[in-house]
Amino acid sequence: MTTPTEPADDTPQTSHPTPGDYGIRGSATPESLILEQLSQGPKAQACRRSKAALHQLIRDAEQAHKARSRVGTETCPQCGQPHLAHYRLTERFHLLECAHCGHHGRGTSATAARADAESGVDSGRDWRGATD
Ligand SMILES: [Zn+2]
Repeated sequence: MTTPTEPADDTPQTSHPTPGDYGIRGSATPESLILEQLSQGPKAQACRRSKAALHQLIRDAEQAHKARSRVGTETCPQCGQPHLAHYRLTERFHLLECAHCGHHGRGTSATAARADAESGVDSGRDWRGATD
């Protein structure tokens, strides 16, 4: 009794699988599938966590610098409350932010920042809604 042999496979072998071999439809390519897998892998997740941690460090440093740069508090030209914080972030960058109404102004000097804040009254500015 002889073991039956399978019929010879005469399908030509190709060295490059087609996207269909991956079960991919549409415009997906092997490259996009690999990129998708890489973006979900543990290294990618660790990379995203590192980036998030780095961004948090930068935000913390910015906040610390801002706190150190506070040079005073003025009366807000929009709401009239004495809660307009004045920050001198650099020699040529002054920032005014009202903790009461959210109004703000900026300029290359204290005078310019004040003028900017005054010209922007009732324009709907609110630094608290700004995305960073
Ligand atoms: Zn205000």
